[in-house]
Amino acid sequence: MVREQLKDAVRRESVGESVPGLAVVLVGHDPASEIYVRQKRKAAEAIGMQSWEYRLEETTSTDEVVALVHELNQRRDVHGILVQLPLPAHIGRDQVIEAIDPRKDVDGLTRTNQGALVQNRPGLRPCTPSGILLLLRHFEVPLEGQRVVVIGRSLLVGLPLSLMLMQDNATVTVVHSHSPSPARIARDADLVVAAAGRPRLVTREWIKPGAVVVDVGIHRLPDGLCGDVAAEQMAGHAGALTPVPGGVGPMTIAALLANTWQAYRGLAMGS
Ligand code: NAD
Repeated sequence: MVREQLKDAVRRESVGESVPGLAVVLVGHDPASEIYVRQKRKAAEAIGMQSWEYRLEETTSTDEVVALVHELNQRRDVHGILVQLPLPAHIGRDQVIEAIDPRKDVDGLTRTNQGALVQNRPGLRPCTPSGILLLLRHFEVPLEGQRVVVIGRSLLVGLPLSLMLMQDNATVTVVHSHSPSPARIARDADLVVAAAGRPRLVTREWIKPGAVVVDVGIHRLPDGLCGDVAAEQMAGHAGALTPVPGGVGPMTIAALLANTWQAYRGLAMGS
């Protein structure tokens, strides 16, 4: 639905000949990252956006990645810049992210956009938390006054999501790898978001009967794909559970497209 609305907006509201443009930078050959980059480009093109992919060798230096980002900052046809994470260990991740023009930072990771999030001011928000909120709104999952537990506090997912849920008036608790008894804390929640990066960490004991569970994790194991939630234990127990794959992943991409449209509107239309 989000994609259909965006496709319509791109077709009707783009200015003159220009359409929103998304540049994706991939350093190295991480197989999962290659899949994500392909999915993101395909999704952008499917709704009428332009996309470019910059593939850099594993041995590329921080300065070379930063130089490419600066070049993309200058391009008038590029409205969104996404540097696919994780970057190889020798590359200064913060330096690369901070090089992105905040107006083109469609992953919402620059200090400018993270500061805007903390202060609840307009800005580009990180895609996975935004995608989760789109999903919760679509299914009319109430947030106001609800007890929510977010498992994980990463800059990419857990931390920004907890802020966004609080801004929607949820009562948010964050548990992380140093929290004693995270299962006991999660069991009190009406909504649990699992973003720990640990396969099948969240078992039935973590979830109150009837609670809504959002599974952010995605792991490729020898027996197939799984999330952070032991999905097979949730049937007849959780009120609802997002699938892996096909849940948060596609919503993250929808949020990326929405951010690219927002960046285009800001740059090309001055809104
Ligand atoms: P991360 O490794 O950066 O952060 C994991 C967080 O979980 C940390 O804050 C850590 O303290 C916490 N944690 C780890 N073990 C824990 C435990 N036993 N109990 C409680 N907390 C624990 O990971 P991330 O980038 O936030 O990603 C989390 C997961 O989501 C990964 O599996 C990743 O692949 C997936 N992910 C999916 C999408 C998507 O689009 N579907 C996007 C981003 C990340």
